[in-house]
Amino acid sequence: MPVFLLLVLLEKWYGWRKGFDTVRNMDMISSLSSGITNVTKDVLGLSIAIISYGWLLKHFALIHVPDGWLTYFIAFMVLDFAGYWTHRIAHEYNFFWNNHIIHHSSEEFNLACALRQSISSFVQIFGILLLPAALLGVPSAVIAIVAPLHLFAQFWYHTQHIKRMGFLEKIIVTPSHHRVHHALNPEYLDKNYSQIFIFWDKLFGTFQEELETIPPVYGITRPAQTWNPVKINFQHLWLLIKDAWRAADWKDKFRIWLMPTGWRPADVAEKYPVYKIEDPYHFEKYNPKASDSLQAWSWVQLTCCLLFISYFFGNIAGIGSPGIFLYGLFIFLMVYAFTELMDRNKSAIIWELIKNITGIAILFYQKDWFGASRIFSFIQPILITYFLVSTIVVAWFVYQHAQEDQQPLSYLPGGRY
Ligand SMILES: [Zn+2]
Ligand SMILES: [Zn+2]
Repeated sequence: MPVFLLLVLLEKWYGWRKGFDTVRNMDMISSLSSGITNVTKDVLGLSIAIISYGWLLKHFALIHVPDGWLTYFIAFMVLDFAGYWTHRIAHEYNFFWNNHIIHHSSEEFNLACALRQSISSFVQIFGILLLPAALLGVPSAVIAIVAPLHLFAQFWYHTQHIKRMGFLEKIIVTPSHHRVHHALNPEYLDKNYSQIFIFWDKLFGTFQEELETIPPVYGITRPAQTWNPVKINFQHLWLLIKDAWRAADWKDKFRIWLMPTGWRPADVAEKYPVYKIEDPYHFEKYNPKASDSLQAWSWVQLTCCLLFISYFFGNIAGIGSPGIFLYGLFIFLMVYAFTELMDRNKSAIIWELIKNITGIAILFYQKDWFGASRIFSFIQPILITYFLVSTIVVAWFVYQHAQEDQQPLSYLPGGRY
């Protein structure tokens, strides 16, 4: 996590020095907080695999490839193949798009948006795609080592600072290829699903080169219009549930889930239209007004959140179950509360209160913060001060925003009004 954070900040600094800053402050905070929710959910193990690799291996291994570099190579290739198809399915079907929408929700393209990862997949059903590795008897331990490396290797190419990479463009997924993948221009939509090797796209007919004449415009055609990663994660699912409920035809209620992404029952689409970007060159990016003080405060909250999570991950065994779930809940409440404020929602104060009351209740009940007083003896007064100050500051911001938003529009400086 510190390495990722450092690289994200380095990219911001580099862009600023070069006069080509691709990182907006609030968007970066939103991306980083999405990364926080994702790792928290993963650490808590809140998802189950319908078909585990171990099960496949036990039942389908035909041979056992000898231990060595070849085993790792096969594992990497099979993961890359499975990755291509899982990714493609996530893009092409309504139901599965919900698990991936968060990754594309940023209207920027930078290292930070690579950290936007899902919290909304609770059942993993594509384990079957690892069958080729199981047939060859690749041990589970090898998959367990290669899988995170394969995932981390997808981080670096989320950048606009690397243009083209010569002969490498023919072999691996490069920033240029992946810019196309994140773009909503009609020419680029649903292209370049490959994760490490680009040939899967060429093989299965989804390859598209980045064209000089068509600068990529990033984001999703139904914009998320919020900085809150928890909301983005369930936005599409919520729309599907509402559409299925409202559809008059029973056939539509059932088929909506596996129709191509974006499909809606005709009667519902007419009655309850959803905003969609038709012209990628003329739309306003999500950019709610944010004063310098709100931006600074959001950074303070993000930093506090990173401190909370560092302690959590450093002491996860000591905290144990069920404490870890309570801690996870607190992290989620925290991210929800400060991103609501970034969105200028009045409900920010409610969420802030829920978070801070939860925090104070934990302190009183445990007479400690998950054992932290062994390391920091002053933890209790520090945290109580934080919870109180945070409540007051957020109340002040919400009051200020309410005042500002009441003024006639012409008096407001800047912003998107
Ligand atoms: Zn994608
Ligand atoms: Zn990406």
